[in-house]
Amino acid sequence: MKFDYLITGAGIAGCVLAERLASQLNKKVIVIDKREHIGGNCYDYYNSAGVLIHKYGPHYFRTNLKHVFDYLSNFTDWHYVYYRVKAMVDGKLLPIPINLDTVNELYGYDFSSNELKKFFKINMVRVDEIKNSEEAIVSKIGRELFEKIYKAYTLKQWGVEPKELDVSVCERIPVRTNRDDRYFTDKYQAMPKYGYHKMFENMLKHPNVHIMLKTNYKEIKDDIRCKKHIYTGPIDEYFDYIYGRLPYRSLRFEHETLDVEFYQPVSQVNYPYDYDFTRVVESKHITGQKHHKTTIIREYPSDEGEPYYPVPAAKSRTIYERYRRKAERLKDVHFIGRLAEYKYLNMDQVVDRALRLFEALHVMEDDGKLNVFPGVSDGY
Ligand code: FAD
Ligand code: UDP
Repeated sequence: MKFDYLITGAGIAGCVLAERLASQLNKKVIVIDKREHIGGNCYDYYNSAGVLIHKYGPHYFRTNLKHVFDYLSNFTDWHYVYYRVKAMVDGKLLPIPINLDTVNELYGYDFSSNELKKFFKINMVRVDEIKNSEEAIVSKIGRELFEKIYKAYTLKQWGVEPKELDVSVCERIPVRTNRDDRYFTDKYQAMPKYGYHKMFENMLKHPNVHIMLKTNYKEIKDDIRCKKHIYTGPIDEYFDYIYGRLPYRSLRFEHETLDVEFYQPVSQVNYPYDYDFTRVVESKHITGQKHHKTTIIREYPSDEGEPYYPVPAAKSRTIYERYRRKAERLKDVHFIGRLAEYKYLNMDQVVDRALRLFEALHVMEDDGKLNVFPGVSDGY
């Protein structure tokens, strides 16, 4: 069989591009993945107890991008849900992100929102130019709350102190002075009604799309002939680590199925400084599944294993920049997604970028030039 496009990686980036190229441009596409399933890190499945779980950590879909939500709605119905997270701090289960109730319950206060704003003002550390995740947080809420909620969690999760990480890492979590206890405030928050895997199956269900699982690009690259290649794996691996290895953070997942309907009150409980795991995730809270048993998953961060998190820091950015410049010179290979662009991207951002790359490829099919490369300084 002959193909127009080879897509390495059947994650959300690969699925969007395969779907668009096949259905809109009538291209013949082959999607390969070294894993035994499609969906990349968003993959979910029913375990042996029949509980729908997320294999690679909790995946809360949320977005403010209407076109992303509308696009995915072509392939799934939705289970509308707000995500809620708590943290075990000093023996108390407190709302995360930090809000009015977090501070009142932690210290036994009865602050109003205005009093909490004053409390933060008194405790905040003045920083002239915020350069890292530690400064980002202490300059908002002060050192004590930073140490209780962020410092040890971040050290466990990333293996380095918050002061070694970009501002953007800890700033992913807002600080609130009201009582809103939703993890996110995005306009669209919902889970694919029948799971992510079903949604990806629907995306790839097209006669022009051929899927090959358990297939590593490195092993087949000399045997497969395609005009164009979309690559969504780690960029340093693609170039055989010529500029050195990019750091990635990984996780080990420990599953436990229990004979109770629910184990904890919300889908995620963080343990900032107790235990070696960072969080316990119970997906039934977000999938909406009714089942007399439940499965919980403890996450243990690690340097070894699958590359789940690019590390947003100055050193890794310098190495990535060299790879990016090399990638940019390859005319018929496009690098997209969390690993190929080495960016801490959420699902909706990846879908947005994949749709933009598709538009650029569409133009190029018409006039022979690629006008937009989505990996370049576009605000994420
Ligand atoms: P991936 O999903 O990583 O897909 C890349 C695919 O390429 C993989 O399937 C891999 O096997 C394959 N591959 C790599 N190299 C090769 C090779 N050489 N040959 C063949 N195949 C190869 N986002 C959210 O929006 N909300 C969340 O709540 C959320 N939670 C997350 C929790 C965790 C623990 C993690 C790790 C991520 C989370 N994300 C979340 C981010 C989300 O997973 C990513 O944005 C998304 O999966 C990125 O899609 P992708 O296609 O770029 O990459
Ligand atoms: N974080 C923290 N304490 C928490 C929650 C988050 O210190 O209770 C920090 C930590 O550095 C984490 C980052 O904020 O890696 C981003 O959190 P998020 O929940 O977005 O992480 P992800 O779901 O991507 O692992």
